[in-house]
Amino acid sequence: MKKFLVLLILLAGVFFGLKKWSPHTLERVQFWKKKTTEVAQNQTLPPAEPAPVPGNETKITPVPKSTAISVDKTAQVVVLMYHRVEPPTNTTGALNIPPDQFEQQMQTIKDRGLAVISMQDFLAWRRGEKNIPQRSVLITIDDGYVSAFDTARPILKKFAYPWTCFVYTKFIGTGGKSISWEQLGQLRDEGVEIGCHTISHINLRDARNKTPDAYTQWLRDEVISSKQIIEQKLGVKCAAFAYPEGRYNSHVLELVKEAGYAAAFTAYGQRVTHSAPFDRIGRYAWNVRRPQDMAQAFAFNGPVEAGTEQPDLSEPAAATSVTQPLEGETITDDRPILKANLATLGELDPASVGLRLSGIGIIPCKFDPATSIIEARPGQPLTPGEYTVTVSAKAGGKRIETQWRFKFAPAPKTQ
Ligand SMILES: [Zn+2]
Repeated sequence: MKKFLVLLILLAGVFFGLKKWSPHTLERVQFWKKKTTEVAQNQTLPPAEPAPVPGNETKITPVPKSTAISVDKTAQVVVLMYHRVEPPTNTTGALNIPPDQFEQQMQTIKDRGLAVISMQDFLAWRRGEKNIPQRSVLITIDDGYVSAFDTARPILKKFAYPWTCFVYTKFIGTGGKSISWEQLGQLRDEGVEIGCHTISHINLRDARNKTPDAYTQWLRDEVISSKQIIEQKLGVKCAAFAYPEGRYNSHVLELVKEAGYAAAFTAYGQRVTHSAPFDRIGRYAWNVRRPQDMAQAFAFNGPVEAGTEQPDLSEPAAATSVTQPLEGETITDDRPILKANLATLGELDPASVGLRLSGIGIIPCKFDPATSIIEARPGQPLTPGEYTVTVSAKAGGKRIETQWRFKFAPAPKTQ
């Protein structure tokens, strides 16, 4: 009990003592804090400018506050997309371009007086920091085939054209036709931009029966981790992204933003303007079956990708509407009826509904607002191959677009 009392008195003494001293103590703490802040600030300040010599002030040129200049916003860019650059065999596929034809196209760019710019110049123009020529071209080669390194590279060097190599990390260094990390390092050292094309190269809209959480995690790996792998392996900042098959949805766009990409590229060939959305930069693809696409790019007479007329490719047609032929179906009729129920796309402006078939172009169609069914039939027989049907329309002033695919393979002839 006695001990307790002594303790109580001691505690009371400490309490009152502190109370008495506290204003002073506080002041000292504040002073110490202020001093450390000042030191910290001094450490981050740049070295002081030398004092101007009297009478000599006019010679000092002011440092510009920002690197932004007023750039030419009327300039336009076409972005070209290539894959393999190899002598054709029956396994190289429709996206392959023979080396001599690739070289011819590079010559066409030169002959037309178009300027090939680097990805960094393109991004600087978008940021308002650098001018680019009125008609500029961006060259991109996708997937990481070794032919980009050993065949396209010498040709591009000959023309002194900068270019961008989009790679998906899972393919790199797997031997055979794949490029290696060492070769990518060499490209980097030569000034080639290395862009990200995911890890696995799977269509990012394809959730493949994953739960919503598993789909999100998978997307994060494909869009964000892939960027980190490239940045760590090559010691670069990976600024550009290319969607596998050009496909995305609103979830993918959010992650592209979160990852911090400065530009993301689709496979929707259009002339790119200064105001085109950074996450949907259109590209013209080389495809053996559609040489007219590249021709349109070189002629600079295709549709213009501006900020307002961007189609919203949020959902594939197969997920939102019943189509004919079905998504992924193989048909034997060379003049099939193409049909889709567009009810889920909302209230469509009937006059705005149009249909395009890859390799053919616009096909006249009938649209019935009462049933929301669009119907069209190609005027000419199809050649065997894969086709993409694109339906576009306006709903509430906004342009929307939806797609589905099918394959035409004629039935074997019976005798
Ligand atoms: Zn690809």
